[in-house]
Amino acid sequence: MISVAEALEQLFALAEPLGSEEVPLARANGRVLTAPVTALRDQPPFPASAMDGYAVIGDEVRPGARFTVTGEAAAGRAFAGSVAPGEAVRIFTGAPVPPGATRVVIQEDVTREGATITLSDRLDSATHIRGAGIDFTRGQTIPAPRRLRPAEIALAASMNAGSLTVARRPRVALISTGDELVLPGDRPGPDQIVASNTFGLAALLEANGAEARILPIARDTVESLTTTFDLAMDADLIVTIGGASVGDHDLVGPVARDLGMEQSFYKVAMRPGKPLMAGRLRGVPMIGLPGNPVSAMVCGHVFLLPVIDAMQGLPAVPRPLLETTLAADIGANGPRAHYMRARLTPEGITPFESQDSALLSILGAADALLVRPPEAPAAKPGTTVSYLPL
Ligand code: AMP
Ligand code: MG
Repeated sequence: MISVAEALEQLFALAEPLGSEEVPLARANGRVLTAPVTALRDQPPFPASAMDGYAVIGDEVRPGARFTVTGEAAAGRAFAGSVAPGEAVRIFTGAPVPPGATRVVIQEDVTREGATITLSDRLDSATHIRGAGIDFTRGQTIPAPRRLRPAEIALAASMNAGSLTVARRPRVALISTGDELVLPGDRPGPDQIVASNTFGLAALLEANGAEARILPIARDTVESLTTTFDLAMDADLIVTIGGASVGDHDLVGPVARDLGMEQSFYKVAMRPGKPLMAGRLRGVPMIGLPGNPVSAMVCGHVFLLPVIDAMQGLPAVPRPLLETTLAADIGANGPRAHYMRARLTPEGITPFESQDSALLSILGAADALLVRPPEAPAAKPGTTVSYLPL
């Protein structure tokens, strides 16, 4: 049995970064930027007013000072002239500040009568002008690689990028195995259950930039599994679920090996998720996840997400753990790393009473996995512990 860290290293060795593609900016959120975005212009491109008011020469601003209004500047419509001593230009937010003006007096500090304005007794000291290029200048970049968030989409738009270079989405084929499984919405027989893992994993993968494809459920026969593997061969990553233990009906390992799978490892020192398998099947990386629903999802968080990140050109590293304080007593851990479903509160983290790997309801109620290293001693409330946010 190998450690979680070793298993992840071996998975990274199986998964090479995929190529890149151009996508329209509006489709780029959540994708991994693989080439830097370079600003094609300064922003703002001109000194711009930050407020509605009057543009004047800053040195002339004092309580009671009077100016003659000579024109108007609005967003998208600059004033054609400049500002001379004793003059003011009516200006609105986003408008170019006319040459000569060095300050905008906000309209709340001004009384206007006809073409004359008088400044009030109480003036603020700000110029209310945004200098050209204070946000970014031409040539400035958004560095790559990075996963694009809405803020970076807005920044790239402002830089005038119409399309972005992003990693191709990894195509992940998801195979459920088991005679007991039916699809959600079907009519399960009296001895059947509904396949949940493929759907949870597809959602997890899709939310992290992959393109998940749920294949037909493979039955516990060599023929059915073989046919289903055939359907998966155009994927960038094959993920099987269940059938990975050593029971009479656990055929994933034997069938994959018959089809030529070169196995990297089998079994990881973790809980839940021990019977994890990985290898390369006719050139395609393959991961065999355990069937218990929580085990499959925990392995999705711990292994699949870093792997598909690496396939998208992000650094090949484990997901970073966060730290908080323990809010309950916990016992000593055994030889396997334990990923405990837990709840985060202002007091810290509390693992759920039951950690049965079949209980999705508890995974649904959890917002973190408390990570207990192998052989971690018993711990008291107040101890600093690590967790993976869900
Ligand atoms: P296995 O590894 O095939 O022995 O499966 C372990 C347990 O997980 C069994 O109780 C299966 O019924 C269950 N299981 C396997 N695959 C799925 C799935 N796709 N969705 C929900 N439960 C599953
Ligand atoms: Mg099974």
